[in-house]
Amino acid sequence: MEHVVIIRYAEIHLKGKNRGYFERVFAANMEKSLKGIRHEIRRRSGRYLVENFAEGDVNKIVKKLSKVFGVHSLSVGYKVNSDMDEIYHAAEAVSDKFGAFKVETHRADKTFYLKSPEISAQIGGRLLDSNKNLRVDVHEPDFVINIDVREDGTALVFNKFIKCADGMPVGTAGRGLLLLSGGIDSPVAGHMIAKRGMKIDCLHFHSYPYTNMQARQKVIDLAKILSEYNCGIKLSIISVKEIQEEIHKNCNGAYMVTLLRRFMMRLAERLAKKDGDQCIITGESLGQVASQTIEGMTSSNSVVGSMPVLRPLCGFDKNEIIERSRSMDAYDVSIRPYEDCCTVFLPDYPIIKPKIEDVLAEEAKLDVRTLLDNAFATLEVEEY
Ligand code: ATP
Ligand code: MG
Repeated sequence: MEHVVIIRYAEIHLKGKNRGYFERVFAANMEKSLKGIRHEIRRRSGRYLVENFAEGDVNKIVKKLSKVFGVHSLSVGYKVNSDMDEIYHAAEAVSDKFGAFKVETHRADKTFYLKSPEISAQIGGRLLDSNKNLRVDVHEPDFVINIDVREDGTALVFNKFIKCADGMPVGTAGRGLLLLSGGIDSPVAGHMIAKRGMKIDCLHFHSYPYTNMQARQKVIDLAKILSEYNCGIKLSIISVKEIQEEIHKNCNGAYMVTLLRRFMMRLAERLAKKDGDQCIITGESLGQVASQTIEGMTSSNSVVGSMPVLRPLCGFDKNEIIERSRSMDAYDVSIRPYEDCCTVFLPDYPIIKPKIEDVLAEEAKLDVRTLLDNAFATLEVEEY
């Protein structure tokens, strides 16, 4: 009996005329996620089937595919010949050992000598005879044995549905630059936008040696987590040390974060234009901290002239964000206790509702252009 993984896909079928394009990107993304693992993926009547893999790789394959956006659910099952004995042995192998069950059969091969209800009844009867701990309940079963009799003389037999990432295939909705800190929020923001099909690049600002190498490693680890959903990821890293020192030296300290945010946005826009990103994405959430007021966002937004700034978490509570962070497996990394550059030279009383004319007056004390050029010259790029 050959183990197979059955892949059902999500929203792609909605895409009318573009369907072929969406499916090509989707198939390529699945192939990328299984790179290095022997397998074959074949398209079969509205689903995909992974076959010809080593028995020991099945869990790895499920884990990887469950993170590919566009995959709605997976089942691990068996492919056998359309023969009642073979189908029965497969059914027995995928069956739970206790509880109430039913058998559901779908018969694409209308020439098969038994009708769907007859197949279900015979297989169900044999399972009952072989295991006294099972009983049939067609209304409220604990599990369902599914049998798919296909037109090519084979049958698929499976039990569980594993819920996956859903969403749209990454790469079908343009490209965006995520401002990735080491916190909880920005990885979640990136995950949400990637889920809608946008390919994400990441930009991280550090302030080494004020921030340490563990803080950098944390961001790399978060980028690697995002990479699994994003089919690979580019992480750009820029130092804002000099910018922070100059703000600290020359400006009213209460404006540190407000001014730094404007530098970050300008650097992000410059990098986005260079790399072909069409928007900037941040993990800001309205009112979460002092700098995330509408006045703060107005101040940082106003330096970006050529592209939208997406803030997918704007209307989320912190506990909703934490829940998402956990479900994408980022939370344990995000809560490692290393300082972000935003906490360097942090004033006791930051300006909460900055007036744009005051911000401009503080910024006028700096050589903005030179600071931007110097910071941009520190750019490092890594791929994960
Ligand atoms: P996060 O949990 O994402 O760190 P936060 O609640 O700590 O967010 P802030 O520190 O105010 O909030 O940052 C708001 C957003 O600004 C972040 O979500 C991120 O998109 C961006 N940002 C902050 N610090 C950095 C950084 N060092 N590098 C890149 N982007 C950053
Ligand atoms: Mg942060």
